Amino acid sequence: MTETTIHHFINGALRSDEGERRAPVYNPATGERTAEVALASEAQVREAIDAAEAAQAGWAATPPLRRARVMFRFKQLIEENHDRLAELITREHGKVFSDAKGEVIRGLEVVEFACGIPHLLKGEHSSNVGTDVDSWSMQQPVGVCAGITPFNFPAMVPMWMFPVALACGNAFVLKPSEKDPSVALLLAELLREAGLPDGVFNVVNGDKTAVDTLLTDERVRAISFVGSTPIAQYIYETGAANGKRVQALGGAKNHMVVMPDADLDQAVDALMGAAYGSAGERCMAVSVAVPVGEETADRLVQRLRERTEGLKVGNGLDRDNEPDMGPLVTREHLEKVQGYVDVGVSEGAELVVDGRNHTVAGHENGFFLGGCLFDRVTPEMRIYREEIFGPVLSVVRAADFDEAVDLINAHEFGNGTAVFTRDGDAARTFAQRIQVGMVGINVPIPVPMAFHSFGGWKRSRFGVLHAHGPEAVRFYTEMKTVTARWPKGVRETNTNHFSMPTM
Ligand code: NAD
Repeated sequence: MTETTIHHFINGALRSDEGERRAPVYNPATGERTAEVALASEAQVREAIDAAEAAQAGWAATPPLRRARVMFRFKQLIEENHDRLAELITREHGKVFSDAKGEVIRGLEVVEFACGIPHLLKGEHSSNVGTDVDSWSMQQPVGVCAGITPFNFPAMVPMWMFPVALACGNAFVLKPSEKDPSVALLLAELLREAGLPDGVFNVVNGDKTAVDTLLTDERVRAISFVGSTPIAQYIYETGAANGKRVQALGGAKNHMVVMPDADLDQAVDALMGAAYGSAGERCMAVSVAVPVGEETADRLVQRLRERTEGLKVGNGLDRDNEPDMGPLVTREHLEKVQGYVDVGVSEGAELVVDGRNHTVAGHENGFFLGGCLFDRVTPEMRIYREEIFGPVLSVVRAADFDEAVDLINAHEFGNGTAVFTRDGDAARTFAQRIQVGMVGINVPIPVPMAFHSFGGWKRSRFGVLHAHGPEAVRFYTEMKTVTARWPKGVRETNTNHFSMPTM
């Protein structure tokens, strides 16, 4: 059987790649190689930028109301194709089907936000900033924008970017993860069906060659990136050195503090979903639990042990008997995560639940790992300092509230965090003092809704503006401020002003 090749979407059509370079795509639940993805050459990426550039001016001149109508149709098409999109995600990423459906919804919400673009682009106006002088600001499209996205949310993360970019009047080139590229092509087809003119949205599949072309081509004005911290930093520095505006979201190590007064049942439920949902492959997954006080810690670990041992691991497409979590995305990633568990053991952490060498009957070649739970992890250990990105939860015991806050603030990442408590003062102090971009109070994964913006602090984000919501409208537009005076009747003569105008 000839293997399917996943190509590109350029200028409104699927385009086959003439190049030689390919990467394998797997179904992580079976371990089978299901397709190969074309890795674009520099010339192919430039072709996508050519198409975007050619379409840009016409789309920018299209009234925002009409651009919004395309978004309304796109929203409807996503709803009609909800299961199809989710199935593609599960087949290539591995997350369970209901989770994949949830991912699509969170992306859809950004499309719904983008439907309000005529309102969002109204700008500001001041009458009479001086005698007979009016001033207003308008937000104009930036031009050609590019998005580079990670494997863990192949639909949602691209949808954090392009709906707002397109609604603002930009053209877009998306470079999805080469590990699960198919869903981006389906989104491109739905956009075309929704009435988006050819060339306004393009998808190039590829690796560093494609990314570097986007980073250095001067016609690309803005780059949005989501992925690991070393690459985020590289994208930010290279994009900025090439004169682009860049927002680059990086890795994470999210802590959840459990105070002695917390509702423990609620905290354990929350931790299980936040640590092991999507096999821990979420940038907002909780990977560190911080119980305050030895008694809280003992009770928490005991309950977590029972629940982690009972986790159901399996094929995410098994809809009649849906597991709690699916496989990891690739064998390479599985080995990396298992390697971290080995490191934790050798560093002296207490492995309470060992999920290594987990097999699923009928899926012996799948990339599965059972839930892993470590107790008595300390801040010097690599399993604490580094992002593991798998179903591995570490418990770091803190003596008191201040120690928990200091621990989190000392970590290099600052994406998300949460506190579980019944004490309003502790919760408020936590929210004020913590150096993290997204904070949950009795909410384990505090991902902001589409009409707010998403972003971490410290080495979890490079660049100023956050993703989606109002910050995205600012990122994808250039502000222009006009100051106008219309002479009345007789024109003054000999009135040159050489000093700074003041009112
Ligand atoms: P990754 O950094 O390996 O890849 C992200 C993108 O960068 C992909 O499109 C990839 O092709 C490209 N890329 C990889 N290496 C490159 C290189 N050397 N030069 C240029 N481009 C390169 O990330 P991943 O493994 O796909 O995703 C997981 C990571 O993403 C985790 O670190 C996770 O925390 C992070 N993430 C962060 C957020 C957030 O909002 N902060 C959200 C989702 C995922």
